[in-house]
Amino acid sequence: MSIKRVTAHEKDVGGIPVARALPSRGQQRTVGAWCFLDHIGPAEMTGDISDGLQVGLHPHTNLQTFTWMLKGELLHRDSLGHDQVISAGQVNLMTAGTGNKRGICHTEQSVKEGGETLHAIQLWIALPMDEEIEASFYNYPDLPHWTEDNLEVTVTTGTFKGHTAPTMQYSKLLAVHFNALEDTKVSLDMSSEDHKNFEYGLLVVEGSVNFAGETYNADELIVLQDCDTQDEEATLSLKKGTQVMMLGGEPLPHKTLLWWNFVDRDLASIEQSIKDWNNRDPRFGDIDISDTPLRRLEAPAVPEGFKE
Ligand code: MN
Repeated sequence: MSIKRVTAHEKDVGGIPVARALPSRGQQRTVGAWCFLDHIGPAEMTGDISDGLQVGLHPHTNLQTFTWMLKGELLHRDSLGHDQVISAGQVNLMTAGTGNKRGICHTEQSVKEGGETLHAIQLWIALPMDEEIEASFYNYPDLPHWTEDNLEVTVTTGTFKGHTAPTMQYSKLLAVHFNALEDTKVSLDMSSEDHKNFEYGLLVVEGSVNFAGETYNADELIVLQDCDTQDEEATLSLKKGTQVMMLGGEPLPHKTLLWWNFVDRDLASIEQSIKDWNNRDPRFGDIDISDTPLRRLEAPAVPEGFKE
């Protein structure tokens, strides 16, 4: 098993500070099909709604957005007509569909006046691009959740220790949230036949953990590859108050390039998506945002030297 430490870098998304662990330039592009990992907040909302998170209208291609809400609420609106508030303990899963003829667009906004804390993890999942996948959106309010050895466990997608989340998947994936009520340990259960070719990413959301003799702190991602499930001990030790998001997945059999809000297999297809979005091609649908403070975001050109 290889172990790599990836340190998230700070970004601003819609007015809120986020720590981006994937992609991490020069360090790590993907973990299985997980190709983007933002830790949003925790951020205290003050003032009115316009001071909260305000992500304007933007498209996606060949990916799913996976939002895991830890605190607060967000309003999601998309071009399929969904208008969904996501609350703590829930997952929103939006699928953009695959290929040059499909796509989706959406907005994300704070819904409450000041005094609320916003804390979430947003991930993107690259879709298998050799499959014909339609756009869709689902909210999952009921996820497997239990407490064992002073550890709260929530399975947000996939199967962990016999508990399976209802979350739809197009490749084999796992995402589990741990919250340590006291100093505690968890076996990562990598021996399942179903997780045979998995890579793993362990994001420290808050607090600190020990893994294989090293300490990791908030916004560090431990990437595990070439996992031999037979004879390796994989135990994570968590300090009281620590939260960890464990990701796992089977790598896709093809390249996944990422530019702006687009995932694709080659540069020509990304350039087509940029042109289509900026020319208001109907493949992305539309949302009336005239009653909101939001803007329609323009897709930026791919820079010189973009690595395919
Ligand atoms: Mn988005």
